[in-house]
Amino acid sequence: MDEKCGVVGISLTDRDVARPLYYSLYALQHRGQESAGIVTHDGFQQHSHVEMGLVGDAFEEGDLEPLAGSNGIGHVRYPTAGSVDTCCAQPFSVSFKSGSLGLSHNGNLVNTEEIRDELAAMGHAFTSDGDTEVIAHELARNLLEADLVRAVKRTMNRIHGSYSLTIMHDETVLAVRDPQGNRPLCIGELGDGYVVASESAAIDTLGGDLVRDVRPGELVVLDPDGTGYETYQLVESGNTAHCFFEHVYFARPDSVIDGELVYEVRRELGRALWAESGIETDVVMPVPDSGRSFASGYAEAAPESVEFAEGLMKNRYVGRTFIMPTQDEREQAVRLKLNPIRSTVEGKSVTIIDDSIVRGTTSNQLVKLLHDAGAEEVHVRIGAPQIVAPCYMGIDMASREELIAADRSVEEIAAEIEADSLSYLSIDAIAEALGKARADLCLGCVTGEYPYDIEGEQTDREVSRPVIGQPSGADD
Ligand code: 5GP
Ligand code: MG
Repeated sequence: MDEKCGVVGISLTDRDVARPLYYSLYALQHRGQESAGIVTHDGFQQHSHVEMGLVGDAFEEGDLEPLAGSNGIGHVRYPTAGSVDTCCAQPFSVSFKSGSLGLSHNGNLVNTEEIRDELAAMGHAFTSDGDTEVIAHELARNLLEADLVRAVKRTMNRIHGSYSLTIMHDETVLAVRDPQGNRPLCIGELGDGYVVASESAAIDTLGGDLVRDVRPGELVVLDPDGTGYETYQLVESGNTAHCFFEHVYFARPDSVIDGELVYEVRRELGRALWAESGIETDVVMPVPDSGRSFASGYAEAAPESVEFAEGLMKNRYVGRTFIMPTQDEREQAVRLKLNPIRSTVEGKSVTIIDDSIVRGTTSNQLVKLLHDAGAEEVHVRIGAPQIVAPCYMGIDMASREELIAADRSVEEIAAEIEADSLSYLSIDAIAEALGKARADLCLGCVTGEYPYDIEGEQTDREVSRPVIGQPSGADD
């Protein structure tokens, strides 16, 4: 429900935080285009501005000034399939007996219903059906009974699933990463403060230095005076469940996630793609922009006779095709977005490289476009394995019925998109390029087995469900 999003939190020594937050939201814009928001605290009260739309549309010059204070958090939200819902724009903020809370969430809980029912029975009123509000209420409740660190720990022991959070508790900025580290989150140092953000590209944008990733199960508390931070390893978990798709598609190539520069991972995946299924065509070309780093690795590994060229021009003003609600619109959008460069493809055998196939719309349209532009053969190579199952962890991909690979063999897909040949990358190549064991990755969308306990789905590990209704105190 809260999809793949971008979160940030900043504490500064002696200047207003709104503008740096605004810049960092720009740096995280690729993680969400539906809404953008900032919550700050000036030492006395909270200020908030949350609007629908891109960062540039959600904020006007005059909106930043009222966001007073040197501590704050921000959020960009990814559109949910179908519904455009102002109620779910973030940061979510609430006031309660002992102060104010603001919350930015990237990820998705899998036991929202359970906790909401329990809290509702205790008299908590909910304004949305999102899981972020559930986390806020659960945390607010625990803050009435325990100090900050204990309250966060209790909350972490009850919520189950994927969450990278930045939290504003009065004027203190906190960051929390779920015990499996499903979504990215990192800490950065500025000249006069500290930042926590979904991706290191946001830290770069502020002219800061990446310190390190927030560890799975870790809480980071920034000093409100911007002079440092403290960390607490609140939950230990055996295996991690890092989302491999962050590295394949979602994150910016210039970000470092869990110690790996995304661009280099994608190039390595491209080289592996050549090793596994390279084909000597006249030309190899990326599907811009997401196929670029893969294609450059692939072309580097290929013999020199395979020419690396740009054969598809992208109209940068067209939004992501994924948000088009109907299939017809999606097909039209691919033609709006990408146009072949005739001289690169005419009379040639070509290979196009993309990061992934979800519904098959993009590759289907591209194969047609390239044939129309005179290509003799069109081969398709994909830098990820077949996506066979939905993502419950925050990437709003599609349902099983929409996924072209859910019930088709690679040969059947090749026939359907009318490609002369089609190959995907193996799961092992992904694990190897990331330098992680398969057991430390979330591979749910490519295996159909999830690292979490999801109703109606298989799990690939021993999962311990948090105990609902645990007596307070038993968990700290
Ligand atoms: P398809 O056209 O097969 O449905 O989607 C594949 C294309 O969408 C690829 O070019 C890939 O880069 C992109 N893509 C993959 N996953 C996502 C996603 O979660 N959101 C968006 N907007 N695009 C995606
Ligand atoms: Mg793409």
